Amino acid sequence: MTIVDRLKAAEHAIAERARDCGRDPAEITLVCVSKTFPGEAVIPLLEAGHRVFGENKVQEARAKWGPLRERFPVELHLIGPLQSNKAREAVETFDVIESVDRPKIAEAIAAEIARQGRRPRLLVQVNTGEEPQKAGVRPQEADAFIKQCREQFGLEIAGLMCVPPVDQQASPHFALLAAIARRNGLKDLSMGMSADYELAIQLGATHVRIGSAIMGERDYSKG
Ligand SMILES: *Cc1c(COP(=O)(O)O)cnc(C)c1O
Repeated sequence: MTIVDRLKAAEHAIAERARDCGRDPAEITLVCVSKTFPGEAVIPLLEAGHRVFGENKVQEARAKWGPLRERFPVELHLIGPLQSNKAREAVETFDVIESVDRPKIAEAIAAEIARQGRRPRLLVQVNTGEEPQKAGVRPQEADAFIKQCREQFGLEIAGLMCVPPVDQQASPHFALLAAIARRNGLKDLSMGMSADYELAIQLGATHVRIGSAIMGERDYSKG
């Protein structure tokens, strides 16, 4: 299979799963996660018409997508942790920031939105498994943090994102994220990766972040 075949297979699986649970496939966005892959690797996907991509590092995304964006109108999602000293570049570069997870970042993003007049869509990342090494607000602090983003920083929050623990069933984590979104009136639910995106769609995902199932295995040894 080529990379475009794998994209089409994922699109097909998303549509099937959506219809199985009575959802409109158009409600679900496939975010193709291109982290660690060079710009040349995504060109076939761009030529095939795919436009939504996810990256986990600000610098890597800028270097890779700066030139590609002159040719293709893409929508870029930041799915990795953000440092407040990168807020300026993140607001400049990304159309969606999925990893808002603490007051310092929310404040820095709000300042950059005011300064640049660019308004990326914002999602709060929830650490549903409460893993110490993982980014995201703890589930029991999510409501208060969302309220703080809205009221103190004047940010519009569109939804939530999570990355469940690798060694656990994902469904309770997806259900928890969906419940937090529901009670906070949030529409976007970014959940589900290569191994579990079909399950995530059953539990309400509006965005699935698919890397290796389309791009192939990542090689982290190159940095
Ligand atoms: C790398 C990554 C993905 C993609 O993971 P795959 O298992 O390769 O599909 C999705 N979401 C986040 C936050 C990631 O860091």
